[in-house]
Amino acid sequence: MWAYFCLLAFLLIFLVEIVFFFVIPRVFREKALDTVEDVGKSVCAEIESKPPLDLDRIVYHYSSSDVKVYLLGFDGTIFASADERLAVPEEIWDEVRNRLIDAKNGQSVSGVGGAVNYAQRTDFAGGSIVYVKYNAGFMISAVRELVLYMTLIGFIILLLALAISYNFSQKLTRGLKETAETAERLGKGDYSVNFTNADYREMAKLSDTLNYVRDEVKKSEDFQRELLANVTHDLKTPLTMIKAYASMIMEISGDNKEKREKHLQVIIDESDRLTGLVNDVLNVSKLSSNITEINAKVFNLTEHIYGIINKFGYLQETQGYNFMLDIENGKYTRADPEKISQVIYNLLGNAANYTGEDKTVYISLKESLDGKRIKFSVRDTGKGIKEEDLPEIWNRYYRIKENHTRPVKSTGLGLNIVKAILEAHAFDFGVESKEGQGSTFWVDFPNADKT
Ligand code: ADP
Repeated sequence: MWAYFCLLAFLLIFLVEIVFFFVIPRVFREKALDTVEDVGKSVCAEIESKPPLDLDRIVYHYSSSDVKVYLLGFDGTIFASADERLAVPEEIWDEVRNRLIDAKNGQSVSGVGGAVNYAQRTDFAGGSIVYVKYNAGFMISAVRELVLYMTLIGFIILLLALAISYNFSQKLTRGLKETAETAERLGKGDYSVNFTNADYREMAKLSDTLNYVRDEVKKSEDFQRELLANVTHDLKTPLTMIKAYASMIMEISGDNKEKREKHLQVIIDESDRLTGLVNDVLNVSKLSSNITEINAKVFNLTEHIYGIINKFGYLQETQGYNFMLDIENGKYTRADPEKISQVIYNLLGNAANYTGEDKTVYISLKESLDGKRIKFSVRDTGKGIKEEDLPEIWNRYYRIKENHTRPVKSTGLGLNIVKAILEAHAFDFGVESKEGQGSTFWVDFPNADKT
């Protein structure tokens, strides 16, 4: 990285130096050539158009400290000169004369001999030359000095750039290296790592993101470990029961019809529990891999809900549960009926599991005032859910341990399935709960025309 910075700094300085060495002197020279050409043309015009001539006046008028004007004959006669001490160098004069001697009046040459000059043939005295030269001495020394300063400044800037870029690249690569090493440790399963690099805003953001990733990975791993423990535990209980009751039938109740049926019922119930558990796990993996599609159609939600409540009938008959219903008739919605069954089944199951001593669950289905929605809600009278747990209960594998009032099938998957299904439908849903006052889970279904 430092090498790149060095190269960049070097290239920049190199470009600036080139500008100073070549471009600026060239620009200066061209400007000066323009000036002498303008002066030369004006002098010629004046000599040719305004008799009587005052040659000295013309020559001095157009000369300045930098520009000198001469009027010379081809034989070397000086008709007028702005500065007699500054004669035209011989080799330049020879070339100018040779190039203009056979030329027509008005023809000109410039920049002869590499100097900044301009010469134009005029008809004065039967043919002579107006010669204008630019005293480039000052310009050359100024440019030289500028180039020298620039080189010096360039050198200092180069050194500074190298020092700064060395520092910068060291800091940046050190940060990146540290982050990469920490990420590698995280990859190997060390969740105690902490990404602390915050030298730059981008690095700080990267560190934050990586810390977030670490937390999420850890959470997911903890959840999975817990799920495995739960699932194996939950599988073990019904299996033990099934085995125990099967043995009992074989050894004790074989001929006693009443006992045998009771024991067989336990085996059936426990098998159902097992099926439910396995289905939950399967559903979650299906949902998370997006295999589940929503096949929406219009159906009678009222009847649908009654159908599911009936499945819980055994709780009312055998265990003293009360399902208090406030359900409006003939309500239709548009959704995937099977998925909605899962939602309602899970919510009712939870309410039954977590409701209070009175074993009462309130179920309602009501059209909203504007008639656009139908609100389904399930209320229980249990312990409720702590405020800090409320957002968590929808997460996969999340279980509030002390909440389990009955020996229930519990994987922490139910509400996650509910959430995934309702989000896939884009339905509003939620929970209201206060500790000690029970919970109300609700879903807003769109009200559909039954046709
Ligand atoms: P579980 O299989 O554990 O019931 P869920 O995803 O259905 O899994 O629920 C997650 C957690 O939310 C439960 O473990 C429970 O602690 C809490 N919970 C769900 N429904 C209720 C309810 N009606 N009353 C109190 N707590 C509830």
